[in-house]
Amino acid sequence: MNEIAHHISEIKSTLPQGVTLVAVSKFHPAEAIAEAYAGGQRNFGESRVQELAQKVPALPADISWHFIGHLQTNKVKQLLKLHPALIESVDSDRLLRAIDKEAETLGVVQPVLMQVHVAREETKFGFLPDELLEWFANRSFESLKATHICGLMGMASNTDDLARVKSDFSAIASLHRRICEMCPDLRGFDTLSMGMSDDYPIAVEEGSTMVRVGTAIFGSRQY
Ligand SMILES: *Cc1c(COP(=O)(O)O)cnc(C)c1O
Repeated sequence: MNEIAHHISEIKSTLPQGVTLVAVSKFHPAEAIAEAYAGGQRNFGESRVQELAQKVPALPADISWHFIGHLQTNKVKQLLKLHPALIESVDSDRLLRAIDKEAETLGVVQPVLMQVHVAREETKFGFLPDELLEWFANRSFESLKATHICGLMGMASNTDDLARVKSDFSAIASLHRRICEMCPDLRGFDTLSMGMSDDYPIAVEEGSTMVRVGTAIFGSRQY
């Protein structure tokens, strides 16, 4: 087994059943992804449309690509043509409408996650919890024609304070529960994407169903 595939199998052995591992391959070459693929990995995360556009044709067609980066509305068209399995980083109503419009044009249903911002960093994108609650309370999803909201994605504060990390994940999980209670008719709203290399065990304890791990699989990124 190659080294990358070995890291993946070690991480997977720690994940409970039902938790999906997304291998975050951004800034790593297609060869690294091919090594992970050879070990059976099929879900990969990328954060830039340009980079994804180069990787998709160079790699096997049965890969599920997750888009996890900040997405500008003027890149939506290009991204949807690449058929991402899941856009995890919907951080505004405006972006969601652009995705919905483009998916409708293409005649597809695009799965997405709504990105929540609970972390302390000010530079991170996403809806504030109250904003998102209001968005669901207003049933703003009802007017979507070609988008399936599958759940929430969020990041914890980038800190050594593990109690803070835990409470950030717990806040995202409880937001998810509140939305489910408020909108019991939402179908397939069951994905909770949280946890990265440094904090995924804590995220899993707090109810994550999808972890996005890059560095612990591929090593450090060369930006
Ligand atoms: C880069 C990135 C990750 C992976 O981070 P690592 O610390 O390398 O595991 C996960 N989620 C998002 C949204 C990212 O941008």
